[in-house]
Parts: sequence; C-alpha cells; structure tokens
Amino acid sequence: MRAPAIILATLLTTARAARAEQVDVIVQAGHQGRPQSCIVLRVKACNLGTGLGSALERNWTPIVADAAAAELRRVGLRVGRRPADWSGHDRARAAVFLHFDGSAPACHSGASVGFPPSTTPAFVHAWEDRYRARFPFRFAGENITTNESRYYGFRKVDTPGRSLLIEFGEMTCAPQERWMAPRLHALGLDVARFIEAALRS
Ligand SMILES: [Zn+2]
Repeated sequence: MRAPAIILATLLTTARAARAEQVDVIVQAGHQGRPQSCIVLRVKACNLGTGLGSALERNWTPIVADAAAAELRRVGLRVGRRPADWSGHDRARAAVFLHFDGSAPACHSGASVGFPPSTTPAFVHAWEDRYRARFPFRFAGENITTNESRYYGFRKVDTPGRSLLIEFGEMTCAPQERWMAPRLHALGLDVARFIEAALRS
C-alpha cells in the first residue's frame, strides 16, 4: 500500500521529534498510524488491530490516549504521547499501551492486561481493581497472549516497574462494543487517574 507523501512526511517528523525523551508518562495508542508507519519505520509485523464493522481499534485508541494525555498534562505531568510506531527509546516513570481486544469466535474475551516481568504487582492490581469496578463484562486475565506478555512497546520505554498494556474490552463482542463506544473519553480519564495515583504513592 502506498501512503501519500504528506502522511509520510508528518510521520517522519513525529518519529524524529520523539527520540529518547525523559518524561513522567508515556501514553501509547495501539495501532495508531498504521499501516503507513510500518512503511516508514520498516515494521514487518504490522498488526492493524481489531474492530467491529466500521468501528476500528486504531481509531478508538487515539481518542482514549488523547483524553488520558490531556488529563495528565492538566495535573502537571510531562507526557510523551506515542502512536504504534516510533523511532528511539523513552525513559518514563510510567508507561501505558492502550488497546481493545478481538476474538473469534466473538465474545470469548473481555478486558485484560499485559506486562513485562519487571512490572510490579501493585501497579497491575491498582489498574485491575479500578477497572473491574467499572467494566460490567468479563475480565479475561493477565498476559493471556504473547502479544500481551511480550509486547514490543515494553522494549521501547524504560520504567521503574510501571509498564502496562491495557485491553479495555473485546471490540468484536457487540454488547461490549456498545458499552465502550460512548465511553472512550471516560476510559482515558480512568487511565489518567490510575497513573496519577500510582506516581503519588
Ligand atoms: Zn490492539
């Protein structure tokens, strides 16, 4: 697939600007910018994410990530907002990688989390406790796939035990999709409050 030159130029500028930043929080919107960014940064495993009908994961994650980033900045934290692919390496006090799950057959998944061995249980449980209280569907578990437990984003950001991939729910499951669709901004605020609390403790 050929991407228009203007998009490639914008992605290159973004990628260069993102090099090796030290911030408080990295917020990544899963799959954002793909497939174009895979061409620019030569990403072979160009996972475009899931979706249901015209609702695409890669259009949803930026809404959640932007809401989280805006709230974190509002309370005075330095935020690095990342798309699916970026060059360089970041250092941060916390990093979240935001996704929605897909399943075939549908409705066999739900919310889940992924994290590397260095992430502390307290950080994981702080999010799980918060989100279980809100999400009215199944919590599918921790590191339920290698895409979660060995997520490439974990290697792109160094944090002191606070790296977490969040799957908010299963987009391919219509009841879950219907619950999440009007709450994307609210999910971002939830993520921001979770991070804020974790960095204060
Ligand atoms: Zn995803």
